[in-house]
Amino acid sequence: MPKSPEDIIRDEIRALSAYHVPDSGGMVKLDAMENPYRLPSELASAIAARVTAAAVNRYPDPGARALKTQLRGAMQIPADMEVVLGNGSDELIQMLALAVARPGAVVLGVEPSFVMFRMIATIAGMRYVGVPLNPDFTIAAGPTIAAIEQHQPALIFIAYPNNPSGNLFDADVLARIIAAAPGIVVIDEAYHAFAGRTFMPRLAEFPNLLVMRTVSKLGLAGLRLGLLAGRENWLHHIDKVRLPYNVNVLTQLVVAEALEHREVLETQAAAIRAERARMLTELRHLPGVEAYGSDANFILFRVARADPIFDGLKQRGVLIKNLNGTHTLLAGCLRVTIGTPGENAQFLNALAATLNP
Ligand code: PMP
Repeated sequence: MPKSPEDIIRDEIRALSAYHVPDSGGMVKLDAMENPYRLPSELASAIAARVTAAAVNRYPDPGARALKTQLRGAMQIPADMEVVLGNGSDELIQMLALAVARPGAVVLGVEPSFVMFRMIATIAGMRYVGVPLNPDFTIAAGPTIAAIEQHQPALIFIAYPNNPSGNLFDADVLARIIAAAPGIVVIDEAYHAFAGRTFMPRLAEFPNLLVMRTVSKLGLAGLRLGLLAGRENWLHHIDKVRLPYNVNVLTQLVVAEALEHREVLETQAAAIRAERARMLTELRHLPGVEAYGSDANFILFRVARADPIFDGLKQRGVLIKNLNGTHTLLAGCLRVTIGTPGENAQFLNALAATLNP
């Protein structure tokens, strides 16, 4: 008689709820921090030509050397630092956790932040310590440093700007945190294209700092490519955890072509930043809405009745993210990704109608 899943599957895995991706068919999709713009047709054609010529019968270049060289230029990675690529930054988070997951080892993060930090730590069999942010979503320097001293985390993740709050933490506080940390500190710059602030040039300053980036928010989320930059003494171990062909042939080719026309993606990011400013003004004009400033491609806002407002938007064909109930600091909070001007107008109209039915 075989044993049941309850006997075989680890307790902490059975206790997890799966990362939920709701069905967005036919909706205005403003829930997942995607770039709303497609690639222009000339660039799409150039990509098609590269794909046509691709040798998909062969395994990809396991070191993705050509792509890495391009990424070094595009992301201004210091020449003396190493780079490891992941199938999205999600996979890099997983590789980091697997590499440090000694029995009893701790991952530390601030809360609320990107939920995969906790989830992947749990999957890797690690203990996760979450230090609450201040109610205005600034980082709580004293409590965070005290928690580092108490728990001695092997790995710390800080999203900069933070998801879901959208703000950049104080860089001096982050420098103090990095200096106080006994292990690796990963500054996750997934939203760098919308923030313009970075720890990338400061890698040499801290022996335990790694900087993570992704092409997802820039407009290439479907390709799944993230990168980790930092010192060779850390990254050559992390690279051993990586599955040999984790970045497939088509991703390597298509990202390379897109980065050759980086100005296209940068123009789209600039349009998103301009729309973010307009959306924030409009949201702040709506009575009963408290909207937080953002350095990312989304805006967090608070309303008195988040669940019915979220449902009302959905009924009007607009999907955003309901964060109410996910953390005490997020009571009443919803998060909207910046879309095209038309999508944003649809969202704002639907929100106004839902607030005043
Ligand atoms: N880091 C942060 C802070 C994020 O918000 C996200 C995506 N929501 C990721 C990483 C994952 O990005 P990727 O698509 O590169 O896996």
